[in-house]
Amino acid sequence: MQIYTYACTDCGSFDLMRPMARRDETASCPSCEQAGRRVFTAPHLGRLDPALDRAVTSAGRSSESPGVTRHVPAAAGPPSPPPRRPDLPPLPRP
Ligand SMILES: [Zn+2]
Repeated sequence: MQIYTYACTDCGSFDLMRPMARRDETASCPSCEQAGRRVFTAPHLGRLDPALDRAVTSAGRSSESPGVTRHVPAAAGPPSPPPRRPDLPPLPRP
């Protein structure tokens, strides 16, 4: 499914997500339900989800100039034992 732009003669342009096979069909305007014709526009590259856009930008920046660690992070301590489950029998002791 792709996003295509259509133009209504009364309301202006509107976007619609539809299969590529139906891209050249007229689309019903969401406001007045008139048939709108497809309009050719630049690719909708700027319409990424903001969180996804930040992640992609950060990954690109990191691949070009990765961050440098100047100190070893503090130890987190020994791992904590898993929580006890009273519904299970205790393990045998050696
Ligand atoms: Zn309309």
